[in-house]
Amino acid sequence: MILDYQQQNTLRQHYDVCIIGAGPAGITLGLRLAAAGWSVLVAEGGGREYSALSQALYACQSSGLELYPQEARLRYLGGTSNHWAGRCRPFSASDFAIAPPGNLPGWPIPYAEIARYLPAAMAIVDLPPGADFQALNSGLDGGEFEPDRFLLSPPTRFAQKYATALEQTPGLDLFIHCNCVDLEFDPASGRLAAVVLSDYQRNRQRLLASNFVLATGAIENARQLLNSQSLLSAGIVSRDGLVGGCLMEHLNIDLGTFILKSGLAPEPREYYTSDAFVDEYKAGKGNVRAALLADVQTYGRTAEVKHFLENLACDMGVASKIAFVAKFSCPGDGVISTMIEQFPNLHSRISLLDEQDALGVAKVNVNWALSADDRHTIKCIGSELARQWADMNLGFVKLNDFVYDTSIPLKLSPHAHHMGTTRMASSAQFGVVDSDCKVFGTENLYIAGSSIFATGGASNPTMPLLQFALRLADHLDARMNAARGALG
Ligand SMILES: Cc1cc2nc3c(=O)[nH]c(=O)nc-3n(C[C@H](O)[C@H](O)[C@H](O)COP(=O)(O)OP(=O)(O)OC[C@H]3O[C@@H](n4cnc5c(N)ncnc54)[C@H](O)[C@@H]3O)c2cc1C
Repeated sequence: MILDYQQQNTLRQHYDVCIIGAGPAGITLGLRLAAAGWSVLVAEGGGREYSALSQALYACQSSGLELYPQEARLRYLGGTSNHWAGRCRPFSASDFAIAPPGNLPGWPIPYAEIARYLPAAMAIVDLPPGADFQALNSGLDGGEFEPDRFLLSPPTRFAQKYATALEQTPGLDLFIHCNCVDLEFDPASGRLAAVVLSDYQRNRQRLLASNFVLATGAIENARQLLNSQSLLSAGIVSRDGLVGGCLMEHLNIDLGTFILKSGLAPEPREYYTSDAFVDEYKAGKGNVRAALLADVQTYGRTAEVKHFLENLACDMGVASKIAFVAKFSCPGDGVISTMIEQFPNLHSRISLLDEQDALGVAKVNVNWALSADDRHTIKCIGSELARQWADMNLGFVKLNDFVYDTSIPLKLSPHAHHMGTTRMASSAQFGVVDSDCKVFGTENLYIAGSSIFATGGASNPTMPLLQFALRLADHLDARMNAARGALG
């Protein structure tokens, strides 16, 4: 059932699982585990609707490239699914097989580990059973670009779609206005003993559970770990280490403009880098969308989103696009937008500030930073696309100068896909969670969401993070059954 912690703060004395955050990850995990017969608390900091009071707790400082962390997340029931756009593309086997450049390894598990959860994750976001991820067009002749394949969720709003299940699934207590403000680690047992929950008057209480899962999104998952004095004292977390490091986004780069050859169909063309491209250029992956100006998509519905889009419009050079329209009036003119992989790098990070929010949790600084390897990816994708369009006589591509000249500052904006801040690895030397999503050095603290991504590919993160959440539900179910069996 859904209860308001602000009105009623009587919790059970103990839960099998405590999940912090009721976005897509937390809701999916909570419903699965409760359906398997476990007692589950989901603590959601926001209410049923957007409120400035809750959203203000997301305020952060920014020192790197602008990530819009305040606007690109929503802090209420359903989380950021309240304004996600619903674009779904699964990871592929090569995302898990190829290590990124630099000193950090890629995924410690093969893609098959999550591929088996794809049908269930598709159903959760209302994609038709068995549907193929569709290509809108053919690829390019050189073999470096395949047609992009994706499906659009309606998009599923998790709070609305799963309201009845959250109310009626036995064993599940979802408290709204229930904020996690501390994690209490017990070094003697190696276990997280409790989380500290707070209402908006700063009344705090400890909640005991056998297992705990952070599902608060990539920035907050790292923030919760960094904010815990007991985890810091035990050496599980260090302020400048891997927790919060490797913050990744998908790069929204305006590659340039094009004039389509007359007589060609005016529909948008969407390509995706092939494995051959990645191998040939030792570069990351990317989606490329060549669309006539009338087809450039936007999304959003709340005041916060409008603000986000205003900022985005400036960064994406909307003014220059308007100038472009004024200059060219032939029907084939368009722009080339992208969603490009960012490789993990430790300079791109969330770090703790001394300043606290209204509930006494330390605020964070977001330093979103790219590496030379990312500039290489952008340059290779842009140059190869322009070359192939010329070779195939599709039209003329004019690349922006910052694409091919890496000495010119890049113009880019984020896609609101935050990943990597508690990355998965085979050891604590390279990551924060193990292949079961358990925080290294703890016995019972897990992470759900795209913060566990070791690399982000160029696939939209939500459906894959649901695949991981379903896998984590199975792992916790098996583990708790084994513990119950051992007790006889
Ligand atoms: C405009 C926009 C468009 C997008 N479009 C797409 C798309 O097309 N495809 C795609 O794959 N992805 C898209 N995304 C990204 C997608 O929304 C996220 O990947 C997804 O919502 C992440 O789910 P999550 O459950 O991990 O985190 P969130 O959705 O962020 O949920 C986290 C939850 O935790 C709660 N919480 C936070 N802190 C606390 C605390 N201390 N105590 C208790 N609760 C807390 C929050 O209130 C929230 O409910 C888009 C995002 C934006 C902003």
